[in-house]
Amino acid sequence: MTVAPEFTLRVRRDEPMSRHTSWHVGGPAEVFFNPRDRADLAAFLRSLQDDVPIHWVGLGSNLLVRDGGLKGVVISTHGTLDRLDRINQTTIYGEAGLACARIAKQCVKWGLGLAEFFAGIPGTLGGALAMNAGAFGGETWRHVVEVETIDRRGQAHTRAPKDYNVSYRHVVPPVSDEWFVAAKLAFEHSPDVNEAQVRLLLERRKASQPIGEWSCGSVFTNPPGDHAARLVDTAGLKGFRIGDASVSQKHANFIINHGNATAADLERLIKHVQEAVERVHGVRLHPEVRVVGVAV
Ligand SMILES: Cc1cc2nc3c(=O)[nH]c(=O)nc-3n(C[C@H](O)[C@H](O)[C@H](O)COP(=O)(O)OP(=O)(O)OC[C@H]3O[C@@H](n4cnc5c(N)ncnc54)[C@H](O)[C@@H]3O)c2cc1C
Repeated sequence: MTVAPEFTLRVRRDEPMSRHTSWHVGGPAEVFFNPRDRADLAAFLRSLQDDVPIHWVGLGSNLLVRDGGLKGVVISTHGTLDRLDRINQTTIYGEAGLACARIAKQCVKWGLGLAEFFAGIPGTLGGALAMNAGAFGGETWRHVVEVETIDRRGQAHTRAPKDYNVSYRHVVPPVSDEWFVAAKLAFEHSPDVNEAQVRLLLERRKASQPIGEWSCGSVFTNPPGDHAARLVDTAGLKGFRIGDASVSQKHANFIINHGNATAADLERLIKHVQEAVERVHGVRLHPEVRVVGVAV
């Protein structure tokens, strides 16, 4: 695909998506763009032809990019669009590329409670809005006051939570081809909140999850009234391996890339686990991880 002359030296072509996902797999992005700021992002979007596919990536912590990569454009918000401000006693303003861990940390400093859960999410605010990410009983959209979005013509919009259909790890936007650039989030004034509480949550998580290994967190959403990890474990799948990918011994809803797994190995393993769990328990598990791109 062609890129407008003012962006030709600023985009990366055939950028391996394995560099931008926590599973460390994924083929090349045809064109990879990291905007400097919102005006730059709007100008880039305006420069694209109408039929160019547009993908977004934050920290790639919930993304399986297939080995054949992504056609079109990948917009990366990480390391940019990361403003974080307190706008009144209980409300903060964050841009989409902001790391969730920073929100948790800064809210503690500001004496704002209920943001601690963000410490457990190794992604960006944009990704958390797209996924309704949650941890330790907290959930992103419970705190959303308003979001700012941008469409493929570079046009900005402000939207209310009621414009979105939000459920567990699932968010349906009012229109397609519109993405998050910022959000206002409300928390509780809570002078007692402190870093030790956040540390305790993270230690608890470290005891039960293979933190530090290459994963995308939970692969499957929990079915109503049950836990995907329990179903996978009791189907005897812990340690089951395809290529260099295996079901974690520590947490059955995690799949680990031991170093040389391909996206195809991971996808095959996901399918195998789905089928085995359905055979044993009669329950169909649904991937939480977003699978995108072209298979080889
Ligand atoms: C070790 C580990 C633990 C995890 N624990 C949890 C957990 O406890 N709870 C939980 O909910 N998740 C967890 N996750 C999954 C993941 O961190 C979250 O889903 C996170 O919100 C994804 O954010 P991201 O920036 O990495 O998004 P990405 O993986 O980059 O993208 C995810 C999806 O969001 C879309 N997206 C990204 N940015 C935008 C944007 N600005 N506008 C519109 N769409 C966008 C992408 O296109 C993609 O479809 C864990 C992952 C790991 C690796």
